[in-house]
Amino acid sequence: MKFAITSKGDQKSNTLMHKMRTYLLDFELIYDEDQPDIVISIGGDGTLLYAFHRYSSRLDKTAFVGVHTGHLGFYADWTPEEIEKLVIAIAKTPFQVVEYPLLEVIIRYQGGAKESRYLALNESTVKGVEGTLVMDLEIRGEHFERFRGDGLCMSTPSGSTAYNKALGGAIIHPSISALQVAEMASINNRVFRTVGSPLILPAHHTCMLKPVSHFDFQVTIDHLSYLHNDVKSIQYRVPEEKIRFVRFKPFPFWKRVHDSFIDDSD
Ligand code: NAD
Repeated sequence: MKFAITSKGDQKSNTLMHKMRTYLLDFELIYDEDQPDIVISIGGDGTLLYAFHRYSSRLDKTAFVGVHTGHLGFYADWTPEEIEKLVIAIAKTPFQVVEYPLLEVIIRYQGGAKESRYLALNESTVKGVEGTLVMDLEIRGEHFERFRGDGLCMSTPSGSTAYNKALGGAIIHPSISALQVAEMASINNRVFRTVGSPLILPAHHTCMLKPVSHFDFQVTIDHLSYLHNDVKSIQYRVPEEKIRFVRFKPFPFWKRVHDSFIDDSD
């Protein structure tokens, strides 16, 4: 089996990375940064987001596992004290995977320039470059609302505990294939109106954003941020691709939610 390790880059994560690499090589696994079967991310959720984007072109062939060197992460749920156990599990056990849904973002441009396609593990946000974002929102090709406000956040189920949660969105179990639309400070008065609630769309529903009078937008894909000019539309849906996480121990999603947001003392 071929493995790769990504580190957050701090001293603690780098030391663990070297230790794990040595242990795994001792077990005769092969280190292959380009075509790994398994990627071990050491750091936090941000490190796993980075690893996901690095290997997003081979999601069907690569599975991920995360070790956290700071606080418990949603994607990084192994502790540094457990790495010997993790190494033995990787080297000796045929691993099981759980698959989580992703978000596909397709940006099309005025004048027919080549479209951009991205996959997000957490979410994609759209904001205006100059002040208020104004965009028409379509669901399954039907006009739904004209949004005016700070921005919109489209999240995956596993990303629902991240930015989406801070916006008042619901937490969605990652076994549900869906995308969630959450508003950022919408303008609502007698003239302008939005639904005001987060929307949860099933996997077969496409959500499309269309500019009204300004065509330049700041679009984030997880931790990455891009300026897009002359935008014609931004399309969101749940893609066929999924992320695969290696599972060696049960750590139910609702326990992770509890331990992260309520109390991890038990
Ligand atoms: P960062 O260093 O600012 O970390 C953001 C925090 O989000 C970290 O504590 C991380 O553990 C947590 N996080 C990431 N994914 C999560 C998930 N799926 N569930 C629960 N918590 C999660 O930024 P980063 O490490 O580069 O991560 C980028 C992410 O930060 C974005 O994908 C976005 O979700 C999040 N973010 C959140 C807010 C907010 O809550 N107001 C604002 C901007 C970005």
